[in-house]
Amino acid sequence: MIEVEGLVKRYGRVSAVDGVTFTVEPGELLALLGPNGAGKSTTIRAITGLLRPTAGTVRVAGHDVLAASVAAKASLGYVPDRPYLYGKLTPRELLRFIARLHGVQDAAGRISHWLELFSLTDFGNELIEVLSHGMRQKLAFTAALLHEPQVLVVDEPMVGLDPRAARQVRQLLREYAAKGRTVLLTTHSLEVAEEVAHRVIVLDRGRILAQGDLASLRERAGVADAGLEEVFIRLLEQQEA
Ligand code: ADP
Repeated sequence: MIEVEGLVKRYGRVSAVDGVTFTVEPGELLALLGPNGAGKSTTIRAITGLLRPTAGTVRVAGHDVLAASVAAKASLGYVPDRPYLYGKLTPRELLRFIARLHGVQDAAGRISHWLELFSLTDFGNELIEVLSHGMRQKLAFTAALLHEPQVLVVDEPMVGLDPRAARQVRQLLREYAAKGRTVLLTTHSLEVAEEVAHRVIVLDRGRILAQGDLASLRERAGVADAGLEEVFIRLLEQQEA
């Protein structure tokens, strides 16, 4: 699971994240929502150990991401919003390399399974640089899932995916959580959050503005049957009032 406690990140006088505490349990799929600049990426980067917080701690599968970074990273799969993949490798070469890094058993079988699932089998031996954005995004998912991490963190998963790939990814995220894994995603798409997430956290200006399932957020926003978008706008208005 993911445990974020008292997370603060300051850049000079700007607090990108200003005291954020939350937990994502095994089997849970949590969506981090919020307007631009809310602190979503900073929170994600702190969870993946890419960023040293000004204060606070983050644990992934019980491992402190800075003090026990190797164990934390072994438990984590991360799909960045703009994945960097080595363009001069082929998908199969990249995935074999990643499988070796993680000591994955039966790498060939797993690689074929994922390539097939994402309709990438025919492109397995092409150079990554010639693949479309959507194909590269699917490859990034495969790379993150190859070692079946306990915790999956995904930044803006649907951007640039065609409807079929987007549906596959939504299904994959739900199934992954259903296996008892922990899934955290950020998204601008309220539709995506509404469809896949068990719980949402709304960040605004580095703080948690609201959290809960959609029913409790609707109640808090005072709108009985509105979609998440309306709820979100009301919560931001309430905050500003
Ligand atoms: P989000 O992902 O929700 O759009 P970010 O976490 O990227 O938000 O950013 C939160 C705030 O922190 C923004 O005001 C942003 O300008 C600021 N910020 C993020 N990264 C840096 C950085 N490296 N240097 C200075 N300010 C930053």
